[in-house]
Amino acid sequence: MVNVNEELTKGLKLMKFSKRIQKIKPSMTLAITAKESAMRAKGIDIIGFGAGEPDFDTPENIKEAAVRCLKEGFTKYTPVGGIDTLKEAIIEKFKRDNGLTYNKSEIIVSCGAKHSIYNAVQALFEEGDEVIIPAPYWVSYPDIVTLSGAEPVIVETSEENGFRLRGEDLKQYITSRTKGIILNTPSNPTGGAYTKEDVEEIAAISVERGIFVISDEIYEKIVYDGFNPTSIASIDDEIKDLTVVINGVSKTYSMTGWRIGYTAAHKEIVSAMFNIQSQSTSNPVSISQKAAVEALNGSQDATAIMVEEFRKRRDYIVERLNSIEGVSCFKPLGAFYVFPNISKLYGRRYGDKIIKGSLNMADYLIQEAKVSVVPGIAFGADDFIRLSYATSMENIKRGLDRIEEAIGR
Ligand SMILES: *Cc1c(COP(=O)(O)O)cnc(C)c1O
Repeated sequence: MVNVNEELTKGLKLMKFSKRIQKIKPSMTLAITAKESAMRAKGIDIIGFGAGEPDFDTPENIKEAAVRCLKEGFTKYTPVGGIDTLKEAIIEKFKRDNGLTYNKSEIIVSCGAKHSIYNAVQALFEEGDEVIIPAPYWVSYPDIVTLSGAEPVIVETSEENGFRLRGEDLKQYITSRTKGIILNTPSNPTGGAYTKEDVEEIAAISVERGIFVISDEIYEKIVYDGFNPTSIASIDDEIKDLTVVINGVSKTYSMTGWRIGYTAAHKEIVSAMFNIQSQSTSNPVSISQKAAVEALNGSQDATAIMVEEFRKRRDYIVERLNSIEGVSCFKPLGAFYVFPNISKLYGRRYGDKIIKGSLNMADYLIQEAKVSVVPGIAFGADDFIRLSYATSMENIKRGLDRIEEAIGR
């Protein structure tokens, strides 16, 4: 008898995938959200701290702009790099918020900021290049760099320094092969953020050594306690030429599903990204582009309300976590994640389980506390776990009660 499954598996094994693809893994954060939903579908009462997106609805004015766009029949191909009105809105945003002046040839709109980063990396890096990534890093950076053929070089940052890369550490890792660095401020997963002085220091080193900076500023508008982000591109013209600024509407306007991200960079870089995009995805969704125009030009009230709610949750969650014995938590300046250090709990035994690292802890919490968190190892920092506070205050309270109880056992 022929076992069809076995035959299929054999067939797949014979199939040879590219070396490129064999080196990368799927996004662990997306995998955890999927596992969470699967458990919930089985009727298990899971409290999810895995979310990588705001729990707010897209603001009404933005949705209305999309409906208008549909009714007007704006549903065909658009220019590959985005419609003019959106580029104009983006140019205005950079002027208003960052004091940066760009023209249309220096702007390209892509299918989400992740796509912007992907295209920028494809345009700039290749085999033989090294790209510096400070850890803890956003899950996708190392794999996106690996896909380009370049080598990610991970540089640790310390919790004591607010998870910011220091100039002296950066210098130590720069070699003749270093082609770029990927900065993320405010940071996912830590909530750490770079001050003007911090980015000045990194800008000076980057200009001196001639390395590109990809600056992922997607959480720029989700900041607390009056923190005022500085885009590294705004330091001077030299660093501006070397910087690829990445931003988007996903987080600021709760528009993760609409897939709009954008890049500002030297026109040669934008033109290279344009070529990649024109031979792969073509334009971002026409309707989403019109909605993004409204997001950038319209009322910013919904964002302010969302950020104030995030701040309340952050204050609560940081305090609760710090009151748990063996746990310490840095107070984030931005984004909607906390990144508590749980390494003091390593070596502890719970029943027949010994917690040896962040994966064990995440496993223990989902099995025993029915709470899902992301293990820090996904971000290159095994002493930590990530909790997203893009969930209701009620869930946060219940979830922390469960975590506290499970850790205290
Ligand atoms: C969410 C996120 C992105 C991707 O945003 P999309 O626009 O949804 O692709 C990029 N960088 C960081 C750090 C993020 O957290």
